[in-house]
Amino acid sequence: MPTPNLIAPTSRGVVQHLSRDNLLRTRSISWIHVPYESFLECRPPILTLGLPMHEVLGFQKDRHIVSMSLRDLSDGREMPPNTAKYVSAWCIRGVKKVTPEDYREYVSKAKPDLIYALADVQPVVSQKRFIKSVERTTEWLVQLLKPSNAEDNAHVPAVLLQMPGGQSTAARSAFARAILEPLHPTEIDALQPLTLSSLDDAVSGYVVDGSVDLMRASLQSLDTNKPRIAHTSSFSTPSTSGSAPSADLIRGPHDILTLIRDVGIDLFGAEWVVKLAQWGVALDLEFPAPRAPDNSNDDAQERSGFPKLRGTKRDIGHNLYDVHYRTDFSRLLNINSKTKCHCFACDPSSCTPEDVIRHSGLDDPSSSDLKSPSQNSHKYSPHTRAYIHHLLHTHEMSAHSMLVSHNLEVLSAFLAGVRRVLESCRDEFGKEVERFFEYYDSGDDGRNYPTKVAEEVEAVVEATVAEATLGQANEVVSSMVLDSHDKLATEGPGVALFDEARVCHAEVERLRGKGSLKRSDRDAE
Ligand SMILES: [Zn+2]
Repeated sequence: MPTPNLIAPTSRGVVQHLSRDNLLRTRSISWIHVPYESFLECRPPILTLGLPMHEVLGFQKDRHIVSMSLRDLSDGREMPPNTAKYVSAWCIRGVKKVTPEDYREYVSKAKPDLIYALADVQPVVSQKRFIKSVERTTEWLVQLLKPSNAEDNAHVPAVLLQMPGGQSTAARSAFARAILEPLHPTEIDALQPLTLSSLDDAVSGYVVDGSVDLMRASLQSLDTNKPRIAHTSSFSTPSTSGSAPSADLIRGPHDILTLIRDVGIDLFGAEWVVKLAQWGVALDLEFPAPRAPDNSNDDAQERSGFPKLRGTKRDIGHNLYDVHYRTDFSRLLNINSKTKCHCFACDPSSCTPEDVIRHSGLDDPSSSDLKSPSQNSHKYSPHTRAYIHHLLHTHEMSAHSMLVSHNLEVLSAFLAGVRRVLESCRDEFGKEVERFFEYYDSGDDGRNYPTKVAEEVEAVVEATVAEATLGQANEVVSSMVLDSHDKLATEGPGVALFDEARVCHAEVERLRGKGSLKRSDRDAE
């Protein structure tokens, strides 16, 4: 797999909004990550019933790399502390305690291609807590590697290690040094038939989170040939602290470029693009950024369907909930975009007659006009923004399917662009990144981002959710939504695209009624 690349996230083993056939049609998905905790509400979990994960979840062994972790790495919720005996995991029925032995069993039955070792990555507040965190993570790694029976010996999984150490750079570097230290002879014996000189020998890659400095501290002494992975650790309104990815955020292409340039991250969890699809955002960006035409506000630019201009920069996509798109009959990508998107919104002809689910003889290709895309090319023009706007406002699930597929394709093409620049002229990469930052709005511009707008967006979304679930008065929310629209429109540069989309999404979901908002809000937490 060429890097940098993306990892498609799943919830309960499914890439959100993509049915199995749509998943197979999405070319950009080659690595799928499955957080195991979402299966824990059943005892025993479904994935321990005998079939490997690929088969149960409908992934293809020859096409999809499937990795598995206990926890959902994008879930930023506060959890009860881990102990030496178990890790706290979250499933639909609440917190579950999972012991390293349980996890070993889940892994050996689910047979993923790669596993994330259990790690004690909770915030480190004291020296004592840090020592515990390192000890536990090391201990759990050893337990995971230790063969428990003959059958296990045949299947030694590739292990990825989540680097603990919390917000302390010293703690992080200390852990990295600890796994490089030579093992004690008794430990070497215990791990037979594996022949390891240090724990790092058993690790195939590293998973990091946090800011650039924290990631560097974790990785600086480790092998640069092993893949380095970062997931979107949480997704909410941005911090206002500065331009580098703060605390735990990878929210967009700007953060990805920063992490490639400054830390050398190879693989990125695509949780954020799926979340954007949920909020009705269709990405429209490319790397390297377009050279011409520049960001000018003339009519020709507007007509060619570029994303909205904020201050002097372009949005990275379109908020299709916006009424502005009601009569926009252009395709999702702007007219000058060099990205060849093969999603099923931009390229419906990628859907072959075999893909069509037939419910009766009437749907048979021989009796309908679905014979061949080439013969009926006029029927397969790209879906328009107006059409997807309509689908979003009428609560059609297909809107989100198309947007997930589209956003994954665009992110994949963006990363392919990064790879091309790195391969052909590595020295130019830094310059291209700067140009990208000049061209596209990052939504993390600390100087301009109005904190109070972020707070108001939270308030509107919360009030909308409360109204949908508790039945509070309509008028209050409606006026808040209107107010917030005005502020977002006038406050100038910022991350307004994401927040606008969230408000519009909450508003439309409110009209749909109870239930769904409660769920989507919980997802966002
Ligand atoms: Zn597309």
